[in-house]
Amino acid sequence: MKREFAVIGLGRFGGSICRELSEEGMDVLAIDADEDKIDEFKDIAAHAVIADTTDDKVLKELGIRNIEHVIVAIGDNIQASILTTIMLKELGIKTLTVKAQNDYHEKVLKKIGADYVVHPERDMGRRIAHSIISTNILDHLELSDDHSIVEVKAGKRMDGKTLVDLDIRAQYGCNIVAIKEADEKGINVSPMATQTIEADDILIVIGADKDISRFEKQLV
Ligand code: ATP
Ligand code: ATP
Ligand code: CA
Repeated sequence: MKREFAVIGLGRFGGSICRELSEEGMDVLAIDADEDKIDEFKDIAAHAVIADTTDDKVLKELGIRNIEHVIVAIGDNIQASILTTIMLKELGIKTLTVKAQNDYHEKVLKKIGADYVVHPERDMGRRIAHSIISTNILDHLELSDDHSIVEVKAGKRMDGKTLVDLDIRAQYGCNIVAIKEADEKGINVSPMATQTIEADDILIVIGADKDISRFEKQLV
């Protein structure tokens, strides 16, 4: 089923959303105030239009009202991002995803009714920081201020042991939700308590940050 999306602002972030949605066969309306950007995307997106979305009249003429999900990826111009978001909200767009430039911008966007606020530079920075701190943490997804899902590589201390042997849930308060075998043989998405872990297997762990950290220091 084709669903309709609009992406406003075709910088690196908005541009990459637009490309990916289009490659997935979605019907995308790409909008940017810059003619060069529209030239670049006219063969990628289903529709590509030059428009300044801070202009109320222009926005209405785009027929954006009927689009289900609009992504606002205007970056540096925070005022334009806020104004565009307010007007889209007033037009009754069902789902609005907006890129925030900083924490203050994020707060304002939430206040004016953006459904999803994304902060790609900050979030990617955090993920990379976590994987730099520990060579065993391969990836990190923040669930809330103090809970996460992480991907860790099992160390020698876990080699040949089962989840019961290690008693992970009881000892560390974390759950192993999946185990990827080292040689990519497969992924087990609901490991049994009796499953044996081998060094270099990749464990997907969910839990409170403090518990994950304890688990990682003592076992990984
Ligand atoms: P990147 O994702 O590359 O980091 P960025 O966050 O730095 O991008 P900008 O380059 O500031 O974002 O803006 C992204 C795009 O939004 C630009 O191509 C710009 O032309 C477009 N843009 C800015 N203001 C408007 C506006 N009022 N209406 C439509 N498009 C706009
Ligand atoms: P619990 O008392 O923790 O609910 P249980 O009754 O479910 O355990 P088992 O499923 O046999 O018992 O698991 C025994 C122990 O093995 C658990 O207490 C836990 O410490 C550990 N364990 C089993 N599965 C997992 C898992 N997916 N992630 C983390 N630890 C696990
Ligand atoms: Ca930028």
